[in-house]
Amino acid sequence: MAPTRDHYDVIVIGSGPGGATLAHRLAGTGKSILMLERGDYLPRSRSNWDSKAVFVDAAYQAKETWYDRDGSAFHPGLHYFVGGNSKVYGAALFRLRERDFGELRHKDGISPAWPLGYDAFEPYYTQAEALYHVHGRRGEDPTEPWSSAPYVYPPVKHEPRIQNLSEGLQREGLHPFHLPLGIKLDQNPDGSATIYSPCIRCDAFDGFPCAINAKADAQVICVDPTRAAHPNFRLLTNAYVTHLESDAAGRSVSRVHVIRDNQIEQYSADIVVVACGALSSALLLLRSLSDAHPKGLANGSDQVGRNYMRHNMSILMALLKEPNDTVFQKTLAFSDYYFGSDDWEYPLGLIQMCAKSHGEQVRGETLPGYLSWLPEIPFEKMAEHSIDFWLQSEDLPRAENRIRYDGDRVVLDIREGNEEAAKRLRAKLRGLLTPLGAWPHLIERRLYLGKDIPIGGTAHQAGTCRFGTDPASSVLDLDCKAHELDNLYVTDASFFPSIGAVNPTLTIIANALRVADHIKERLAA
Ligand SMILES: Cc1cc2nc3c(=O)[nH]c(=O)nc-3n(C[C@H](O)[C@H](O)[C@H](O)COP(=O)(O)OP(=O)(O)OC[C@H]3O[C@@H](n4cnc5c(N)ncnc54)[C@H](O)[C@@H]3O)c2cc1C
Ligand code: SF4
Repeated sequence: MAPTRDHYDVIVIGSGPGGATLAHRLAGTGKSILMLERGDYLPRSRSNWDSKAVFVDAAYQAKETWYDRDGSAFHPGLHYFVGGNSKVYGAALFRLRERDFGELRHKDGISPAWPLGYDAFEPYYTQAEALYHVHGRRGEDPTEPWSSAPYVYPPVKHEPRIQNLSEGLQREGLHPFHLPLGIKLDQNPDGSATIYSPCIRCDAFDGFPCAINAKADAQVICVDPTRAAHPNFRLLTNAYVTHLESDAAGRSVSRVHVIRDNQIEQYSADIVVVACGALSSALLLLRSLSDAHPKGLANGSDQVGRNYMRHNMSILMALLKEPNDTVFQKTLAFSDYYFGSDDWEYPLGLIQMCAKSHGEQVRGETLPGYLSWLPEIPFEKMAEHSIDFWLQSEDLPRAENRIRYDGDRVVLDIREGNEEAAKRLRAKLRGLLTPLGAWPHLIERRLYLGKDIPIGGTAHQAGTCRFGTDPASSVLDLDCKAHELDNLYVTDASFFPSIGAVNPTLTIIANALRVADHIKERLAA
């Protein structure tokens, strides 16, 4: 069968927050936009809220096998759907701190300065928060950067046990705040969902897809509204981009090669935007070899795939002496240790709540032997007493931490780094447990982010095509256009020169809006 060929003003590859937000902003120009997404719509069903299906059976995780640097196989925590990983994300939507844009010294090295400061992103953070329905309150978080506007949506109210935790943390001299959350929730004065609220405030926030489309993910917020309002926007699902072909001079992407429903297709566009997620975008460029780009597209600097960062993350469960009847637990965070503590001069990281453990999850975890201190209690009972925290510390960019191909195999070649910050952050939390009414032990929950943590914990991925002014040490320029090509942009977290210790997606969204404005101007010229 002859390949189809079609020309567009803009092709966007990937429908996660990076691609979908950009397309949403560009669609109003009337320019023809084609979005290519390798996955399909995530099927809606009761299983979306079933913790065994989601966490134990990993029903929505991509069935892919990658390899670590020693050749051991693992399954990355990736989700190929319309909306990308945001279909399962926890929607904690934070701004990087202003100091994250400057150079920060860690024990294991330097978190480098960004080539643009916080000022360049601030207006887009404000727009991103409004677009993704971020609920929060300014002035509570001691490390939050300045902002030009209040949150449009009020904070998600704490349930009584979390309010109690907040007060306990304050008694310990800390500054807990309402976690900024992207959620379509209208609350009654007591925090419960109003009768018109899309979100019903159930116990399946965080890691679960929302069966009723009430989480502010990229499909709900950007893809579907854009499809409905703009006939110039076209979405093709099950459309896997195999490689990008450049013209003879190697200066522009001339064709996008796709396999869709087992057929080979080709498309072209004046502008091509890659937003496959930081790891998959690097892989796509590395697959796109040509005489003009023998090391992979836009890879004259040999930087594509390098400087991969994720957070040093752990999900920890403590057991309260009293039952914890909280339904929607993910409403609190504290950043008091973000830049250091009285006994450590380097940054430690951020502590936030995550969804409450379910009995099935606890059953699925490999629990440590020291739990013999606990009386014999069923998993459901443990879940009833559980209180759950998500800890993340900064990972530093290092050229040798990279994603690459070895023949057809994908190799995620990483060495752990900056681990002391994570250990110390955990010790800080452990020290707080007794005053907070919990047993003084923290239990690792590994299932939430995929079974192969730490290497498979690819939830927060960044840095594989960083932006900068020097083409020898960066892949993208300050507009996130490839230095070496005139019509190729990348708008996922690949461009991050450092990752900070807050969740990355609001920065991806803000940057996608920023790049979209630049492309808009270019299209109008
Ligand atoms: C369990 C979990 C919890 C998380 N919680 C949070 C949180 O609370 N806060 C936060 O800020 N972040 C969170 N994240 C991270 C967040 O989901 C990502 O930062 C965000 O989705 C990245 O957006 P993206 O557009 O760059 O990439 P993605 O969301 O990964 O989207 C990329 C899209 O590209 C498609 N694609 C890939 N390759 C190709 C190809 N060759 N051809 C066509 N299409 C392709 C993929 O199918 C996917 O749909 C979480 C992630 C996970 C997994
Ligand atoms: S808490 Fe709200 S957004 Fe989350 S799964 Fe339940 S209904 Fe959906």
